[in-house]
Amino acid sequence: MTTKRDYYDILGVSKTASAEEIKKAYRKLAIKYHPDKNPDNKEAEEKFKEAAEAYEVLSDTEKRKRYDQFGHQGVGGAGGFSGQGMSMDDIFSQFGDIFGDSFGSFFGGHSRGGRTRHVTGSNIRIKLKVTLDEIKKGVDKKIKYKRWVVAPGLNFKQCPTCHGRGSVTKVTNTFLGQMQTSSTCPTCGGTGQTVGEVPKGANAQGLIQENTETTLRIPAGVMDGMQLSVNGKGNEIAGGYPGDLIIAIEEVPHEFLVRDENDVLYELHISIPEAVLGCTAEVPTIDGKARINIEAGTQSGKILKLRGKGLPDINGYNTGDELIRINVFIPSKISKEEEAMMKKLAESHNFTPNSADKRTKSSFFNKIFN
Ligand SMILES: [Zn+2]
Repeated sequence: MTTKRDYYDILGVSKTASAEEIKKAYRKLAIKYHPDKNPDNKEAEEKFKEAAEAYEVLSDTEKRKRYDQFGHQGVGGAGGFSGQGMSMDDIFSQFGDIFGDSFGSFFGGHSRGGRTRHVTGSNIRIKLKVTLDEIKKGVDKKIKYKRWVVAPGLNFKQCPTCHGRGSVTKVTNTFLGQMQTSSTCPTCGGTGQTVGEVPKGANAQGLIQENTETTLRIPAGVMDGMQLSVNGKGNEIAGGYPGDLIIAIEEVPHEFLVRDENDVLYELHISIPEAVLGCTAEVPTIDGKARINIEAGTQSGKILKLRGKGLPDINGYNTGDELIRINVFIPSKISKEEEAMMKKLAESHNFTPNSADKRTKSSFFNKIFN
């Protein structure tokens, strides 16, 4: 793992910089290291990406707050979710507007110097079911899906609309005189090339559908609705970069346990004699069973904790617990004989709620309201 530079240092601003200062600083760096100005300069490209990453975080109030508090870890920087880094296309699509309208004229259009815009294939979204057990340990999942790939033997020809430039220029008359505007070529999407002869079996875009298989590591601690993205495993496009494969995590509900963030909850039902006399009980855990001790005189609603029997945090800092709530079962129908026993118990002062019961109640409300 490489150590990451401080985002404020990268942009050359102070920790108290305003949103406007941050935007200005980023714009300056982005223009300086822009790939159109530094063709085939790997270092400039890295600097350009680095600045974009810093800007992505510092321009977002929430992310900036987390970064100030927790550093790179707080914004998923190292080993976290968005740690895959951004591609050049991501940067253009996300922050393209920072260059504003002056961008085109600034560099004389995107395609000068042989560089053309890249087109990207579409993303493929797949739902993936994972169990609590798999979430606890992390799991390798084999994913089978269909995707469009460039047909073998596909060839290209120069785009007839833009003649390979990737952009088209339009001249309009305004009251200020003639204005030249340059925009991405609608025929080739900016690549400067179009599909030539299409091989047999391919569609008009030169693509064929293929069954694909990929193995993906699902990290421990994922949650329902989280998305994992695999760069370049989406649909291909002729003359461009493939899209991404996006995996949406779908948690399979557990038979007995309910997840609450990193904890799991279990409702245990015991009888009145068990609550009064104490007992041992078997409870399900994420990956098996555990025996727990119920002390004599346990109140209904009491919560017992199996430390560390929950789920690991996605960032790997903590592991949740299993919380077991005791429910004392009250029968709704009883026999004459049982009724007599109950009446007898009612005479005993031990079975009359006392001040200790009030304490139980207040801790129960604390549990709910906190
Ligand atoms: Zn074109």
